[in-house]
Amino acid sequence: MNEEQAIEYAKEKLNYFKEDALLTCKEIGDGNLNYVFRIIDEKDGDSIILKQAGPVARISDEFKVSPDRNRIESDILKIQYDFVPDYTPKTYQYDPVMNCFAMEDLSDYEIMRNALIKHEIFPEFADHITTFMAKMILLTSDVVMDHKEKKDLVKSFINPELCEISEDLVYTEPFYNCDRNEVFPATRPFIEKEFWADKDLRLETAKLKFEFMTNAQSLIHGDLHTGSVFIKQGATKVIDPEFAFYGPAGYDVGNVVANLIFAYANGQAVITDEAKRTEFTSYILTTIKDVIDLFKQKFSQLWQDTDKDLVATYDGFYDYYVNNILKDTSAVAGLELSRRIIGLAKVADITSIKEEKARQKAEENCLTIAKQFILQRGQFLTGADFVNVVKKVF
Ligand code: ADP
Ligand code: MG
Ligand code: MG
Ligand code: MG
Repeated sequence: MNEEQAIEYAKEKLNYFKEDALLTCKEIGDGNLNYVFRIIDEKDGDSIILKQAGPVARISDEFKVSPDRNRIESDILKIQYDFVPDYTPKTYQYDPVMNCFAMEDLSDYEIMRNALIKHEIFPEFADHITTFMAKMILLTSDVVMDHKEKKDLVKSFINPELCEISEDLVYTEPFYNCDRNEVFPATRPFIEKEFWADKDLRLETAKLKFEFMTNAQSLIHGDLHTGSVFIKQGATKVIDPEFAFYGPAGYDVGNVVANLIFAYANGQAVITDEAKRTEFTSYILTTIKDVIDLFKQKFSQLWQDTDKDLVATYDGFYDYYVNNILKDTSAVAGLELSRRIIGLAKVADITSIKEEKARQKAEENCLTIAKQFILQRGQFLTGADFVNVVKKVF
């Protein structure tokens, strides 16, 4: 759709605006894949968002991606709205012919990555995102769900094309000299030596890739970076779950941790005022610590409060299960740190660092942390364990 067609669509198909509404529309998408229309009734200011998936990516016709991702996104948003309504946009109608759905307009929020690049601080983010993740991860798993119902959910969230994007961009391409990688020239020697020539690292990423493809543990968001978080003081909404599928439960937690580390690297590199730099970077470290520790606390409480499969009550099973999630958290944090620096899809926290030496240092520090998170996964079990690596390397 173009903007005029989106207005026509809203008039004819959406039971949302008043009969006499005076509609205007702007396409506001800034992602790689989809079109996002903001439609406003100029009479009363009421507004709605229409997100449409085309058969090819908006950045390039070469990327063919099934528009079925729009069904996946609108379906998981409904599940998320059931489990964690405070942190999920409300959705309205899904249209399988036009591959679009309508949702609540969150224009009074800001994309978290953009806010973090301005070094804004959101003290409640860790609390919000850990409630979101603990509930989604446990309540969609075999630990608490009826196993046959869970298998139906697995089936409806088979997401082959978007999973393939992650398999390639996250698990494969960053770890060899792939044509599609986009390496910052100053960092290239470090990457050649520490990544592409490291056979042990490659072996571990191969193991992780097969776990990603085969471990249908929880219904995960699949793309939970700070560009998929809408935020303002006191409120958080998680958007853009089109990569959702049944995968390793630690995947989303790892993505959150890695993207906080990018914000930390940015703060260290570009804030010149020392007091301000300390304030922002300390806030990020506290948030990383809280993301792990609050996640564990809430996951444990929910585990105790919820009816479970009999075998999940055996002595020692809880510790086994949660430590496994933390192992994946650390591995995925390492993979995300690697792929955003070496691979095709970059993050502005790093690319906006103008000074060449400062960017190189930020990148090498992130990659040094990444290797430890991947190779020593299983050794980071508390918030302090994660934070200590960051403090030691920077
Ligand atoms: P993509 O899948 O293409 O990345 P996103 O869902 O991330 O699309 O949306 C792209 C952009 O559109 C967001 O960064 C945000 O600026 C805007 N946007 C998306 N959803 C909403 C919403 N519910 N309210 C307001 N703006 C939105
Ligand atoms: Mg935006
Ligand atoms: Mg997006
Ligand atoms: Mg998206």
